[in-house]
Amino acid sequence: METVPIFVGGVWREGRGPRMESRFPADGSLNTVMRAASAEDVEAAVQAAEQAWRDPAWRQRLPHQRAALLLRVSELIDAQQERLAQLQTRDNGKPLAETRALVASAAATARYFAAACETLEGELTTPRSPGIMTLSRYEPIGVVAAITPWNSPVASEMQKIAPALAAGNAVVVKPAEATPLLALELARLFEQAGLPRGLLSVLPGKGSVTGEALIRHPLVKKIAFTGGTETGRHLAHVAAEKLIPASLELGGKSPTIVLDDADVEVAARGICYGAFSSAGQACIAGTRLFVHRTLWQPLMARLVELTRALRLGHPCQPGTHVASLINEAQRERVMHYVALAREEGGTVLCGGGVPSDPTLACGPWFEPTIITGLSNQAQVCQQEIFGPVLVALPFDDEPALIAAANASIYGLAAGIWSRDSARALRLAEQLEVGTVWINTYKTFSVSTPFGGYKQSGLGREKGRQGLKAWMQQKSVYLATAPGINHWSD
Ligand code: ADP
Repeated sequence: METVPIFVGGVWREGRGPRMESRFPADGSLNTVMRAASAEDVEAAVQAAEQAWRDPAWRQRLPHQRAALLLRVSELIDAQQERLAQLQTRDNGKPLAETRALVASAAATARYFAAACETLEGELTTPRSPGIMTLSRYEPIGVVAAITPWNSPVASEMQKIAPALAAGNAVVVKPAEATPLLALELARLFEQAGLPRGLLSVLPGKGSVTGEALIRHPLVKKIAFTGGTETGRHLAHVAAEKLIPASLELGGKSPTIVLDDADVEVAARGICYGAFSSAGQACIAGTRLFVHRTLWQPLMARLVELTRALRLGHPCQPGTHVASLINEAQRERVMHYVALAREEGGTVLCGGGVPSDPTLACGPWFEPTIITGLSNQAQVCQQEIFGPVLVALPFDDEPALIAAANASIYGLAAGIWSRDSARALRLAEQLEVGTVWINTYKTFSVSTPFGGYKQSGLGREKGRQGLKAWMQQKSVYLATAPGINHWSD
């Protein structure tokens, strides 16, 4: 198979690093072969980016002109939605229904940041001295690095590329090693839409080699990362050494809470989706379930029933709920945690193993699994598994529930199921997490900030401030009256 080119400083060419592959997780078949970006490629991309963002032709491009470019990209994505979704499914193995939504969200993100960019206003701040006008304006940061994971590539990539370019920066993307294809496709679409050369590079490769060279490059002035907490901590150290901002969207172990007044059917359906869509490979997956003891029996019975009815299948087959995991290593990790849960005294209510269906023997499928009988301190309740495993615990009173829900190093998201909105809102205030869903789960809006409390992250993506996060503010003092006496004597 011929190697596909990567996008270095506006040039499509072979990488100078080792050979790497994209494989279809469902059966391991080869999608593409490429050569990774080497440290030399990182150097070329960053130098081109530095030149490109400083180019007066780009610096002087007005917000509505940058917005027009993003709108063209969103139209190109919409026009090719099915092809892109299929490619995303080939690359990361998610069901087509999910990758269609991811691609649609990438187009929506481009449109949103076009609008946000066009309408972002600087400020004339309130005067404090006669004859002095004070204003505050937003300026780009320069060359920024975007490091993305394999679980929702096209969405996490656009959440970084769109605001970065809208803000006037140049961006170098390092996609996850397992899933380089959509970032490269996005680069083609930006190029087709007329993005000047050098403003976007896509450098597939290993985190420890390509990623490391990128984040350490002295010309890189911001790191935006989505991925695991340990890698995020490392990137934060590098950013601290360089004294540059880092925005980090990290792991989670999100609690979902069923209050005693919840609608059991609605809650069970939402919890099942929140835990098992994307085969649980989502930082926001609702994997720690707390159920009020009065509803424990009916809720758990219905949840097990719904979970057993989930259709495991090929990601391109219509109606598939749960496709394979990304690779065998991930399945082994999940199996390790299920074994640990059993050792810790847990009971597996459903799932817990590799499905027996012979048509699923071609890839790393794992059964959606529900575990009970553990305490909140159990490792399976505290560590992020990143697979289809839900742990359920009963609770009796709200103070104990809140303490348990917050007893986690993570603070990404939470779900509350209750018929009483005011009560749910009061509870939401007490949860130490960045996003709370009430009577819904995993619904998203690009206009609403997203990010974590505690070790789930730093900074926010999306929303209007998701654009400002890619800019720095400059204050200007202008004397409007001649002869200001600075010595005031
Ligand atoms: P996972 O693969 O489990 O999501 P990571 O959080 O390590 O875990 O990966 C997320 C992204 O971070 C990937 O693109 C990966 O290549 C990248 N990455 C990993 N280590 C580094 C590093 N030292 N420097 C820069 N990027 C890294």
